[in-house]
Parts: sequence; C-alpha cells; structure tokens
Amino acid sequence: MKTPLVALLLACSASYAWAETDFPQKNNRWFEAAEAEIESKLAQQPITKPAKNIILMIADGNGISTNYATRIFQGQQNGLLGEENVLPQETFPHSALVKTYNVNAQTPDSAGTGTAFHSGVKTKAGVLGVDETLNVGDCSAVESASIASIAEVMAAEGKAVGIISTASLTDATPASAYAHVASRRFEDDSDLPEGCDVPDIAAQLIEQIKNGTIDVAFGGGQRHMLPESRKTIEGTAGNRKDGRNLIEEAKALGVSYAWNEASFNNLDPSADKLVLGVFAAGHMQYEYDRKDQPSLADMVKWTIEALQDNENGYYLTVEGGRVDHANHAGNLYRALTDGVAFAEAVAVAKEMTSDQDTLIIVTADHAHTLSFNGYCGRGTPINGLCMAIDNNGVKHTNKMHLMLDGKPYSVASYLNGPGSILTEENNWFGTRSVLSQEEATDPDFKQQSLLPTPSETHSGEDVAVYARGPWAHLFDGTVEQNYIFNVMNHAASAKER
Ligand SMILES: [Zn+2]
Repeated sequence: MKTPLVALLLACSASYAWAETDFPQKNNRWFEAAEAEIESKLAQQPITKPAKNIILMIADGNGISTNYATRIFQGQQNGLLGEENVLPQETFPHSALVKTYNVNAQTPDSAGTGTAFHSGVKTKAGVLGVDETLNVGDCSAVESASIASIAEVMAAEGKAVGIISTASLTDATPASAYAHVASRRFEDDSDLPEGCDVPDIAAQLIEQIKNGTIDVAFGGGQRHMLPESRKTIEGTAGNRKDGRNLIEEAKALGVSYAWNEASFNNLDPSADKLVLGVFAAGHMQYEYDRKDQPSLADMVKWTIEALQDNENGYYLTVEGGRVDHANHAGNLYRALTDGVAFAEAVAVAKEMTSDQDTLIIVTADHAHTLSFNGYCGRGTPINGLCMAIDNNGVKHTNKMHLMLDGKPYSVASYLNGPGSILTEENNWFGTRSVLSQEEATDPDFKQQSLLPTPSETHSGEDVAVYARGPWAHLFDGTVEQNYIFNVMNHAASAKER
C-alpha cells in the first residue's frame, strides 16, 4: 500500500491520475469547505426577474484594505482570531472590482465617484449630478450639464425613495443621489458664489422631497437647513443667510421630523410616509461616540419597513459616511467601529429582504492609503502591534515583531496623515516612538504614518462591489464605477425572463 507521500510523488508523473477519493487531504476541513463552496456555486442560478427593490450601500472610503481590517476587527471583537471572519457583504454571491478614478483625477473624491454610481457617468472631482462639460464652480453651466440622478429615475418608475447617511445629508455621497450643483461645497446658500442662481444642496434636498422624489431622508446637516437666527441641536447657529428654515418648510409639507433618538423612535413606519430625520449640526457622531442618535442599522431597518409598503417597490441609498472621516483622521479604531456599524446595517438589509425581488449592492466610493505591515502571526490585533508568527502553533507568539530600528510597529499604518513621524517641530525629520500595545489599541490612537498631511488622503486603487438579488450576476470582473448605475437601471426595468 502506498503511503500518502509516495502517492504525492507519483502524482507528479504524467501517467498517474488521481481518483478524488485518494486525496490524502480529502478530510481536511479547508479542503471540505472548498468542496462545499463548489457545490453551492454550481447550484447557483442567476436571478433574471425585475428588481422590485434596490438598495445601494456605500461605506465611504471603505477600500479593500479598510474592508479587510473591518473583517478581522469584527471577528476579534467576537472572540475569533479574526482572519476567518466573514462580513455580511462577503456572503453575497457576486462581486467585482471597481475602477474609481474621476475624469480629471487619478485619486478620486466622493462627489465625482458618487455621481458615477448614482447617475451612470464619470465626471470631474468635486461636482454633483452634472457631467464633465461643467467647469468646477460654474453655476451657469449646471442646467446644460445636469444628468438624471438615481432618485429621480427610480421615483419616476413609481418607486419610493430613501436616502440615509451618517454624514450630513448635504455631504457629497448622499447629495450625489439627488442634487445638481457645480461644487460639492455649495451645501447651503452661505457657500454659494455671488451671482450663482442654482439652489444650494440643502435647498435641493427639500425641493426633492416637495416634488415627490424623496420620501425618507435620515442623516446630519441641520446647520445647512437652518437660518442664522436658529440654533442647531448642538447649540451652534444655522448657516443660512436667506432666512429660510428648511426643516419648518418640510414640516409644512406634512413631513414627519426627527432630531434625536427619542423622536426617531416615535416615528411610525406604517403611518409616516414622508420623513426627515436630521440628527446633528453637521455629520452624525462616530459609532464609538454615539449618544442620542439612531444607529445606521436602526435607520435602515426603519426605512425598509416604511418603504416596503409601496406597491412599486423602493430605491434606497445607504451611506456609512464616517469610515472615510476616521481614515482621514488617521484613527483606524473609529474607521473600524464605523465599518462594523455599516456591516450591521448590511446584515439588517439582507435579513429584511428576499434575493428574489431585491437587489442589494454593497460598495465603497474610493479607497484610502491604509496598508498593512510585517509578518504578523494569526490573531494579531489588527488595530494593534504586530506579533510574531508561532512556528509551532496557530496563534501568534505574544512577542512583538521588531523592525530594523529595534522597535515594534503597528500592523496597520497610513502612507500619509496626521500621525506622521515627520513633524514640523523637528524640521520635518522624525524618529519613531516606542509604542506599547495599550497605546496602539487605544480608540484615540492615530496610526503612525510616513508623509505629513493634516488629513490623510484618498487613494485611487480599486474598491470591491458585492451584490445579491436580481441581476447581481452582472457584477463580474473589473468594471468602471458608473456601470453600477446601469446595472441598477437594468435590474429595475428588466422584463421577466
Ligand atoms: Zn474623503
């Protein structure tokens, strides 16, 4: 009888054919799991019915690297080593890589990228709902450059429309679902240049509620909706110079309004059909700091409950807006806790819907400069210091792995950002401080980075898109970002096959 080793050597000769049952690894758990995955892929059939409902979920700045770190972080929070964890979006059957550049930017911004997936065309960095013929800031070109937004297209098909963001509702990603402006900075009238007669983003949001395009909107941004004479929930003054109180205008239209957790909990998804929730002066809080504000998952749950009563279905944009902001701050801990909150919202959307009538797309608008260092052992805290690999076991050795300077290092760092080791006080020279595991895993820790910038930058690399439901199989290979709109439009308008 052959030993497995002899069998393996024989396999290298062309004359030997393996019978599957002969594999010495046939009972190995990794091998068995892979076999099971093949079976489930073989059983999969593309769903070619029309998508009654479409949910587009964006974690802003959640590039493949941030998504990877969130996967491990969530797993470690749940008591796993972490690497083996699976995020809800990673259970979706279809995925693709997405090219995120703007027409004039190798490294994109959220306005250009949002316009791409919400309108089907790539455009310049910094503009919303207009094509590339417009020069940034030129209000006079908005009318001729405007393109149809997803909210407008889906509302015209009779679908109810919801927009949810943990950022300000007037911030680039949510605004790209409904607004047409020459600059993402035009969030309220105090930002408009002299002579610009295109309404600001906040005014366009209320107009889109008034004209029946948007039914439910949850997020931050009170200061862009209130006049200077009125105070936001945070006690700061409103920004508006035109004296308009857009929240009162919405209420006068019959819109139910929420401003904190209690008023949110008082909303009734079976009765309140037009709803505006604005929970902060600017962006909503990070999940780690969240007090008296609903979670992203709570807002998604409420909105699906409300919109699913519409007989023609619904369209919903959901943005986990602050993954991006924490990355900019070089603060991985908050990026990951907001990433987990986003994953929980994805899980809610998945549980509340059927893949037979609801297309769910999960993606990011762009990536960040987050990267991962060293040869770290399994179970190394992804937001902490790199621990050495154990050659005699699975989990790391509990000993820090050191760099040439003899110092430990964090697994994750940014290529640039406020945690730069090159400081102005030191004439842009620097040395690395010696970090303890406790310091590195502190929620307020800013990762060490190389190049000094006050705000860590985006990166232009690809992001992932995950999809399930009708026409989700159209996501395959490497695609341009604007293609996401066309898939949604195709799925919504497809005839039964
Ligand atoms: Zn950003």
